[in-house]
Amino acid sequence: MEHVSDVELEQLLDETLPLVKKTFVKLHLKGCPVCQGRMAKQQEERHEFEAIIAVARKLEEADRKSTQATHLMVTKVFQPTLFKQ
Ligand SMILES: [Zn+2]
Repeated sequence: MEHVSDVELEQLLDETLPLVKKTFVKLHLKGCPVCQGRMAKQQEERHEFEAIIAVARKLEEADRKSTQATHLMVTKVFQPTLFKQ
């Protein structure tokens, strides 16, 4: 029996696999420890990737905030008349 392809596993995780294929893939996974392992590994990698993205987003956000703060500070220092009202 042929193993499930990486693309098919990805599509299964993405829920983008056509129904007929999905049925075949799920059926194959039930009886194939090799592909179950590959699937678990892909899921794990996906979680790691998502964790990295989450950290990157937080860093980006922090950077954006500090850039705004710096901008505000610079504006206050160099254009004090704007803040006199
Ligand atoms: Zn397999």
